[in-house]
Amino acid sequence: MQIQKIITTTLKTKPAETSLPFGKYFTDHMFVMTYTKDKGWFNPTIKPHEPLQLDPSAMVLHQGQAIFEGMKCYRAEGGRLLLFRPERNFARLNASGERMNIPPIDEAFALKALSELIKTDTAWVPSAPGTTLYIRPFIIATEEAIGVRVSSSYQFIIILSPVGAYYAEGLSPTKIYIEEEYVRAVRGGVGFAKAAGNYAASLKGQQKAAAKGYTQTMWLDAIERKYIEEVGTSNVFFKIAGEIITPALSGSILPGITRDSAIQLLRHKGLTVTERAISVDELYATHQNGTLEETFATGTAAAVSPIGEFMWGEKIFAVGNDGIGETTQWLYDTLTGIQYGRVKDEFGWVHEVK
Ligand SMILES: *Cc1c(COP(=O)(O)O)cnc(C)c1O
Repeated sequence: MQIQKIITTTLKTKPAETSLPFGKYFTDHMFVMTYTKDKGWFNPTIKPHEPLQLDPSAMVLHQGQAIFEGMKCYRAEGGRLLLFRPERNFARLNASGERMNIPPIDEAFALKALSELIKTDTAWVPSAPGTTLYIRPFIIATEEAIGVRVSSSYQFIIILSPVGAYYAEGLSPTKIYIEEEYVRAVRGGVGFAKAAGNYAASLKGQQKAAAKGYTQTMWLDAIERKYIEEVGTSNVFFKIAGEIITPALSGSILPGITRDSAIQLLRHKGLTVTERAISVDELYATHQNGTLEETFATGTAAAVSPIGEFMWGEKIFAVGNDGIGETTQWLYDTLTGIQYGRVKDEFGWVHEVK
């Protein structure tokens, strides 16, 4: 398929790289491709970033049939533009789509389209330390009809947003509120998918944590309300008596690409990483007996984010010394080092846009 290009001549003024809030500014262009039952995916186009034309009856607006991805483009020294395991994102988009009855895209073609889009808007990839170009691919159901059934038409869109450094002044520990009332996802549901509605459903918990002065919510399993699942929109890891433990993927946990990368890097370093169920009671017990050494969350937005404190009901407890553990710091430095092309990529994870 040939990608049609409609290039705008009225370029926007770029925001200063020193003040880039997350996901607020968008580049000059976007990628759009349409699906209909008869034609499949067709008409791939790079065009100016502009509002969509949607009929008010478009299915996405009513039944929320929508999926997305989140990935980043990193500007390496010398100006090279790097993506981190991008094929994984498009594979996961299709896995999410399978669950939400959205027709699959050609993953290799999607990566090619993304590369073309980034090349069109190369000037928007920031270069200040820690900054990136955030990439948001998504698919929405566009059939004009009200009624709960599978849409017969879709749009696959990619938009780009320059974002600032997550930790502009170096890593700093976050405070996490353990949520016992609301749940994020349930086994058999859509928690493993990046399905739009999951995030609407999580806002209530997030708001509650924020009102108590906490950075994020830690979600527990929906059935027994005791096993740890995720932190906000990140996967979570605990270092307990030298061993790294992360909740096993159960169907209600999002299989993070950063999670998978962290497991591989930590094992490569010689650490033991165990994927298993861990309850909040067990976590508290390890704090009590002094074996809870480090806790961190992983995700594309922050890479690795240290956790310094938990609130669980009436109890407030710190992790380690509420500082940044050595494994957490090592993982952050190594992972971001690979992403920015500063550390040798022994895993074949980095994909250069050219
Ligand atoms: C996207 C996401 C993650 C992290 O996935 P990465 O591929 O590492 O960015 C974790 N949990 C949830 C709920 C997510 O949406």
